Amino acid sequence: MSDFDVDLFVIGGGSGGVRAARIAAGHGARVMLAEEDRMGGTCVIRGCVPKKLLVYASRFAADFEDAAGYGWSVPKAAFDWPTLIKNKDAEIARLEGIYRTNLTRAGVEIVDSRAVIEDAHTVRVLKTGARIRARVILVATGGRVVKVPAVPGIEHAITSNEAFHLERLPERIAVVGGGYIAVEFAGIFAGLGVETTQIHRGEKLLRGFDEDLRDALGEAYARRGIRLCLECGLTSIEKVGGELLITLTDGRELRVDQVMIATGRMPNTERLGLEEAGVALASNGAIVVDAMSRTNVPSIYAVGDVTDRVNLTPVAIREGHAFADTVFGNSPGSVDHNVIPTAVFSTPEIGTVGLGEADARQRYGNVRIFRSSFRAMKATLSGREDRVLMKIVVDGDTDRVLGVHILGDGAGEMIQLVGIAVTMGATKADFDRTMAVHPTAAEELVTMR
Ligand code: FAD
Ligand code: NDP
Repeated sequence: MSDFDVDLFVIGGGSGGVRAARIAAGHGARVMLAEEDRMGGTCVIRGCVPKKLLVYASRFAADFEDAAGYGWSVPKAAFDWPTLIKNKDAEIARLEGIYRTNLTRAGVEIVDSRAVIEDAHTVRVLKTGARIRARVILVATGGRVVKVPAVPGIEHAITSNEAFHLERLPERIAVVGGGYIAVEFAGIFAGLGVETTQIHRGEKLLRGFDEDLRDALGEAYARRGIRLCLECGLTSIEKVGGELLITLTDGRELRVDQVMIATGRMPNTERLGLEEAGVALASNGAIVVDAMSRTNVPSIYAVGDVTDRVNLTPVAIREGHAFADTVFGNSPGSVDHNVIPTAVFSTPEIGTVGLGEADARQRYGNVRIFRSSFRAMKATLSGREDRVLMKIVVDGDTDRVLGVHILGDGAGEMIQLVGIAVTMGATKADFDRTMAVHPTAAEELVTMR
């Protein structure tokens, strides 16, 4: 008989935890997983998936307009927010069910409760009070939204969590922040016809992205009618009758129906028993791990957003998978966090992989830049002014492609495939000898000289 009730106790049923639990169980481990909310975690319940469904919804209005140039006459289209939310909720419930079924089929025991760590090998299930002895504990508790700055009236503001469940679509909204979530939601609301103002403390959106992309996105958003208040912040929110009166750091006042705060997220490590178990945390509360996702306590590991490495679903999944293979599959492996393709589902969309121009110049010095900005073919008959941007950053000494940056329709789909080439270490000459697919926007990637 083993001294332990289970081989692995996973805390958190999100992207990282679910993958780790299933793979470990597949390797023959006895696995228990606790989830305090809904199975699937941030991505499935209140992140990537519902967000992408809203993004799809937000793009139809422009498509209806564009159709006219192609000879279609579309009667005035009408949009119903409650229908979208109802259908989205049904899809999320379906996916949640699939997550549960897959875990159960893999032999994972699900515990619907909050769980906390008592010591290096003990987890307490709060709902039942049960103490489970585990040979290994995996913390995969993700992150949560933070509402900053804490200005007077901040309680009137919503976050992305509530945005998915609004009873009515607001007529006017102010979105605060300039990161992934603020950019995506400003695009969603604007596409759905909401008068949208985006308020951001920086001089451009999406800090950390290639500067040309940031400029092109700012121009595209302004063209789409999103009012950008840059180098600007909130000082207060006041409820006046049925509307919200917000004041900005430059003294301006705005009247809106909703304010959405999207100023970042933080790791879920509070009241988890980590300090008591001796697990080292970074100053922002993230669990400190090494490349193998080990904490400083040998029996406790952590993956996903709770470690604040690269906070994306595919990364959490890979980390969970590598952990399970290493610890239970006798197949040690770690995740390469260097080349990670990613998309921002703004409209127009962004796809990016590798280094931006400024970072590449700093690290490599001798860098060659290939840039192309053009009107998409579809826009010729629709009359739309949208432009596509493509940029390739190349190491001048070795010809290796260091980064690719795209803004335009389908950028997320394109960057997934470009990501393979960049991961393989493709050179600009490899791009150049790849035959173009014509007529596409993506062919520009292999024809830029
Ligand atoms: P999570 O998915 O957050 O899962 C953690 C789980 O742990 C949660 O279900 C939580 O309830 C549970 N939990 C916490 N504490 C306890 C406890 N003590 N006991 C039991 N259970 C507990 N990423 C992308 O790659 N693409 C996107 O398009 C994208 N869009 C996003 C949009 C939004 C609005 C947001 C907020 C995020 C988005 N992300 C996206 C990021 C992505 O959702 C996260 O990186 C990913 O979900 C992290 O997975 P995780 O397993 O680390 O944590
Ligand atoms: P981000 O870190 O991407 O952006 C936060 C934004 O808030 C930044 O613009 C930041 O400004 C601003 N900010 C931070 N603190 C303050 C403050 N005190 N006052 C005013 N502004 C402030 O976080 P998000 O919440 O947008 O997203 C969290 C993470 O989730 C992302 O980083 C990403 O990893 C993931 N995600 C991925 C998506 C995808 O893959 N498509 C979609 C959504 C989320 P500054 O830039 O100046 O610091």
